[in-house]
Amino acid sequence: MSASQIPPATAVPGDDVPTLLVKIFGKDRPGITAGLFDTLAAYSVDVVDIEQMVTRGRITLCALVTAPSAAQGSTGTSEGDLRATVHSWAESLNLEAEIISGLGDNRPRGTGRSHVTVLGHPLTAETAAAIAAAITATGGNIDRIFRLAKYPVTAVEFAVSGAATEALRSVLAPEAARLGVDVAVVAAGLQRRAQRLVVMDVDSTLIQDEVIELFAAHAGCEAEVAEVTAAAMRGELDFEQSLHARVELLGGLDASVVEAVRKEVRLTPGARTLVRTLKRLGYQVGVVSGGFTQVTDALQEELGLDFASANTLEIVDGKLTGRVTGDIVDRAGKARLLREFAQQAGVPLAQTVAIGDGANDLDMLNTAGLGVAFNAKPVVREAAHTAVNVPFLDTVLYLLGITREEVEAADTLVG
Ligand SMILES: [Mg+2]
Repeated sequence: MSASQIPPATAVPGDDVPTLLVKIFGKDRPGITAGLFDTLAAYSVDVVDIEQMVTRGRITLCALVTAPSAAQGSTGTSEGDLRATVHSWAESLNLEAEIISGLGDNRPRGTGRSHVTVLGHPLTAETAAAIAAAITATGGNIDRIFRLAKYPVTAVEFAVSGAATEALRSVLAPEAARLGVDVAVVAAGLQRRAQRLVVMDVDSTLIQDEVIELFAAHAGCEAEVAEVTAAAMRGELDFEQSLHARVELLGGLDASVVEAVRKEVRLTPGARTLVRTLKRLGYQVGVVSGGFTQVTDALQEELGLDFASANTLEIVDGKLTGRVTGDIVDRAGKARLLREFAQQAGVPLAQTVAIGDGANDLDMLNTAGLGVAFNAKPVVREAAHTAVNVPFLDTVLYLLGITREEVEAADTLVG
């Protein structure tokens, strides 16, 4: 076909063009979709929209097509004939068919589009009702709903239009807390799929442990370290003071303890899956830690992380000196490092994700495009964009719209 023969673009029928919504429901088997369109093809109709899904072996197939032109002195081209043919085809396959006349295409989706991801463990009907009602209360319309995952939690995504992302967040956050589920609201758009950078806190986020406490156990000063931590939490010490006070208690420990502590570190469930999947998708992944490079360097190598930054325990003559060297990674430092990593990765801040659990992660969480409070203290949970309260780090993938199926398919392909 030469350029002059290409028909003008008239794919979308105007609001005055008669269209038919054909809905087929029943037991799924091969050939249903082909069969329906084969039946429709006899009437030379155009396809405006198709949606199909299969739930527990039952197919729901919706086709929006232009109505056939009126019969012009011949039989076999009228809407009535199309209806009769589709119904008899459906009956022959024991399917239910419904055909609704109307005009034009679907109504355009409202502006202000967001993805609302709900993580339930389990997801109750009460929760689904409350979330849907809260979305409606913001003026939002639920355009689509689909399941992202059934493992390790039930994750469902609502595609919502007509409401501002911030408005949805502020209405859904208290509902999520009341219902004991996690709800994340992320603005829709290409940005969600663009290459991103994910930066994680380490202690109680990427790993289950607090590394300083592992060291303290070797030094026999767990109680003292815990007391300093508690004082810091009460706001009597800032992070840097509390870090120095705790590290001082480790002075004199044999450097061989470093290796022992590395072996004691337990990754958070789902940590490997999260990092591996993100890397396969082309994300860059980093960690920032108020803990120690002696542990984060090993994690960086083990997991293939692109970036890692932490404090360094000073070791002289085979002993910990009780001091740290270099710049301290504290609350402000974590946010600064996120910016630096983003710059090095060539990723705009809006396309970064930060994950953390502590008050010293808050600046980083709020600097990132999406800040995820992971099993965090209430103060952190309330200030972050979104929260995950199930103990599986890979559930963060669902907040990014990545389905469990995609995670598992990638595992199968790469091995
Ligand atoms: Mg932490």
